[in-house]
Amino acid sequence: MPPFAKAETLWFNGAFVPWEDARVHVMAHGLHYGSGVFEGIRSYDTADGPAIFRLDDHYTRLFASAALYELEIPYPAEQLASATIELLTRNRLKRTYIRPIAFFDAYSLTLWPRGCPVTVAIAAMPLGAYLGENAMQGVRVCISSVRRFDASVIPTTAKSCGQYVNSVRAVQEALRRGFDEAIFLNQRGEVSEGSGENLFLVRDGTLITNDVDASVLPGITRATVLELAAALGIPTRVVPITVDDLREADELFFTGTAVEVTPIVDVDGRAVRDGRRGPVTSRLQQAYFDVVHGRDDRYRHWLSFAR
Ligand code: PMP
Repeated sequence: MPPFAKAETLWFNGAFVPWEDARVHVMAHGLHYGSGVFEGIRSYDTADGPAIFRLDDHYTRLFASAALYELEIPYPAEQLASATIELLTRNRLKRTYIRPIAFFDAYSLTLWPRGCPVTVAIAAMPLGAYLGENAMQGVRVCISSVRRFDASVIPTTAKSCGQYVNSVRAVQEALRRGFDEAIFLNQRGEVSEGSGENLFLVRDGTLITNDVDASVLPGITRATVLELAAALGIPTRVVPITVDDLREADELFFTGTAVEVTPIVDVDGRAVRDGRRGPVTSRLQQAYFDVVHGRDDRYRHWLSFAR
């Protein structure tokens, strides 16, 4: 995996600063205890200039995550959204991954973050396919021995920094075992999701995914794909998924801001039936790319242009 590409400027506590100057004290509460929240957003090149996909929905989720952790972001969502757009123009960036983060900063050693200032940063950096340049042809996954945390432990609907050690462990194991990505089972042993992506399967032409009851983050890409499927007349069911369902699936794919719509070609070394050329997956992948690249006028309201 290559390191992230740096941009010239990022937004840090209300100002645009050179990338190297966005520094945090080593005693930051968020560093020690994971007490922060973040988002992952993408921008794309379109015929009308760079456009950020579902920017407002991502900031809505950031603020919802922050509220769950009693973290008050000291800037309105509108200011963060316009700073994000300005980041693209200032850095002359098109296809990027955007990472807003807000966390409790250095003040106290106690777990209670009272009094800790909240630091907010937004970085935008060039990023291609998250799971590698060949990922769009399909990835190989394993079922992780690391289980997904339950919502009774940590809310699964939020994106908090600390919770991602669960995903880090699953990814470490997957890569050590020679796979591209991991699939979590939840505490009941049903299928949950990937380390940073939701999971869909196709069986006899029906598109199936699970929901928050399976300890998944209800992704914005997942919602987008469900909406696109409805518009394409693809029958959809939202139900729990078992390991056997994965084995019997005709097609499997991940969705997520970073991975977009990525086909899965095998699970634990066993080929997915139509994994390599799944007709439903490729229709949805095409529809998704048309939307994010501004080629489908019906969904232009999801794009925030940086001109
Ligand atoms: N699940 C997890 C655990 C994630 O981290 C992500 C990425 N945010 C997703 C699912 C997909 O969410 P989205 O489509 O909103 O990026």
